[in-house]
Amino acid sequence: MFFTYTGNIHIHTRHSDGTGTIAEITAHAAAAGLHYIIITDHETLAGLPEEGLRHGVVVLVGAELNRESHHYLALGLKQLVPGSTAHPQQMVDEVRRAGALGFMAHPFEKGSPYIDGGKAYPWKRFPDSGFTGLEIWNYSSHWRGRATSIPRTLYWFFLNRKAALDRPPPEGLALWDRYTGSGLRVTAIGSSDAHATKIRVGFLSFEIFPYPFLFRTINTHLCLREVLSNNFSEAKGQIYDALAEGRCFVSFDQLHPGTGFSFCAWQHRAGVAAAIMGEEIRWQEGLQLTVRSPSRRSEIRIIKDGALHCRDRGPEFHCPAPGPGVYRAEVYYRPFCGKARPWIYANPIYIRP
Ligand SMILES: [Zn+2]
Ligand SMILES: [Zn+2]
Repeated sequence: MFFTYTGNIHIHTRHSDGTGTIAEITAHAAAAGLHYIIITDHETLAGLPEEGLRHGVVVLVGAELNRESHHYLALGLKQLVPGSTAHPQQMVDEVRRAGALGFMAHPFEKGSPYIDGGKAYPWKRFPDSGFTGLEIWNYSSHWRGRATSIPRTLYWFFLNRKAALDRPPPEGLALWDRYTGSGLRVTAIGSSDAHATKIRVGFLSFEIFPYPFLFRTINTHLCLREVLSNNFSEAKGQIYDALAEGRCFVSFDQLHPGTGFSFCAWQHRAGVAAAIMGEEIRWQEGLQLTVRSPSRRSEIRIIKDGALHCRDRGPEFHCPAPGPGVYRAEVYYRPFCGKARPWIYANPIYIRP
C-alpha cells in the first residue's frame, strides 16, 4: 500500500530572477492541484522563513548553487553553502556535510542561439559520489535547447508547446544508468525551472511560461508508504526522505496526468509489494515486476541495468525479474495519431544479489 503526491521542483521567485512572490506561486500551485513545491532561487535561502504548509501545499525552500555552470539544487540547507564551478565535487561534499540533498540541475543543457545570448549552463565535470541525484527532464532548459531555428521557436512557443519536449535528453538517462550501474543509488527528478519571465514588445507585455502553465508540465510524483502528514515539519521529512531514496517518478503531465502510476516488485506467493520504486531488496526466485499506468494508451518498458528488458502495451504489465539488477520503468503515451511519446520515468527498484 502506498500513496502518491504530485509536486513541482526547481522554482525561481523574486528572491532571484523569477517574477512571482512565494505567496503568489503557492496559490498557483494549489490551483494546479500540487501537494508540494520546492523553491530554489539562485545562491540564496532568502525564502526560507516562508517555508510552511499554505493552501494545502507544502512549500519547501532550497537553493540553486553556482552561476556559470554546474548548477546544483541543494535541498534542506539551513545555511547557504558556497558553490564551486571549478571544483563541483567539493561543493557536492559540502552540501552532503550540511545534511542536505543535492541534485545536478540540467546537466546537459544546450541553450538556444535566440535566447539569453545563446548561454547554456551544463555540467562538465561530474561528481563520483556524495550527490542525491540529477534532473533528467527540466522543462525550461529542454525547451530552450530545442529552439534551434526561428520558425521552430515560434511554432513551439505559440502553437504547440507539447511538441517541443520530445524526450528527456538521452545523455542524462545514460548518465543516470551509469551511476546506478556502478552500485550507487541515484534519484532522477523532473523539474520546471520556472521563472515566469516578463517581456515587453512595444505596448504588449507577456510572460514566458507562467507558473500556472509550468505546474502542469513536468512534475515529480512521490510514492509514500504512509499518508503525507498535516504537520509541516513531518511532511518536509517525508518529502525529503522520498526524494533521497528515489521513491518517486517523473511525469510529463501535460501529455496526460501521471497520477495513478505505480511500479512494484512482488513475490508471487505473497499479497504485498516486496518493493516499490526507490527501494532495495534481495533477489529471490519468482520475483515479478508490475507497472500500472493511468492510461490504457500506454506502452510500458522495463529497463534492466540500462538496457531494454521487456515491453508491452498498458495499462498493466507484469514481467519477471530473472536475476539481480537495477530495474526501472518508462511509459510512453500513445496519442490517437502519431507515434508514442516519452511520458513517465520511474526510479529504479534495486534488486541485489
Ligand atoms: Zn540552472
Ligand atoms: Zn534554475
